[in-house]
Amino acid sequence: MKAYRDQHFLTDPRIVARIAGILEIRGRIVLEIGPGEGILTKALLERGAKVISVELDSMLADRLSHRFASEIEDGSLTIIHGDAVKVPLPHFEIAIANLPYSISSPITFRLLDIGFEAAILMYQKEFADRMMAHPGTRDCGRLSIMVQTYARASRCFDLPPGAFSPPPAVRSTVIWIEPRDPLFPVNDRKVYEEIVRELFSRRRKTVQSTLKALAGRFGKEKIDLVIGDLDPEILSSRPEALYLEDFATISNKLSG
Ligand code: SAM
Repeated sequence: MKAYRDQHFLTDPRIVARIAGILEIRGRIVLEIGPGEGILTKALLERGAKVISVELDSMLADRLSHRFASEIEDGSLTIIHGDAVKVPLPHFEIAIANLPYSISSPITFRLLDIGFEAAILMYQKEFADRMMAHPGTRDCGRLSIMVQTYARASRCFDLPPGAFSPPPAVRSTVIWIEPRDPLFPVNDRKVYEEIVRELFSRRRKTVQSTLKALAGRFGKEKIDLVIGDLDPEILSSRPEALYLEDFATISNKLSG
């Protein structure tokens, strides 16, 4: 079932308590994306967090402002009415959310870009599986590589559609994300991001063929040098067969 603005609300307080209780959040600034009717917001506030909730739906944002008037008054809750992908976000330390699944990708990249200490995020299971796919396997893509380069991601638990009202058509997975420095140092993050995107946008092509197609961007001389310098096994591989180290090697040679 496709709900308006991905509005599938958690109904079981035990599940909400599990999500809110994974991290110690007392006194911490927690960003919540898509508070909906506020079931998770309430649990975060009860655990002593200072919460910033971003809600797109003006009716829900309004309702939350009334429901949590005293928490807004005493400064423990801020409600931002807007699109979490675009709206300016104040400083936060931790992100916890039952995400609107249609913004899973842009919001994950945005959060990683901004930086945070830890995040507990609920995704569509299939999306979470792709995020966690091991480099060198068929499911691995741009999302897996970018998340795993800059963060440690682990599965907390899965939830069936019946945990929500109305139930979505898909299963859900709660993921714990902790940013870290890349295991294989990246010299230029912009070039890294670009090369990962280019390689996966030509999934069926070999690394060598994609590099040749980038001569206009990096210059033919540079591309020839990089091709001459790279291990032939990397050059003849498709991106899904590469490991994190290989992406770093290719990007560092291009930005060197
Ligand atoms: N946290 C609530 C819960 O667990 O019951 C609601 C979760 S519901 C899956 C997603 C919420 O995100 C909805 O309230 C929806 O209105 C809101 N939403 C959808 N798109 C959004 C966006 N781009 N930015 C902020 N909130 C959004």
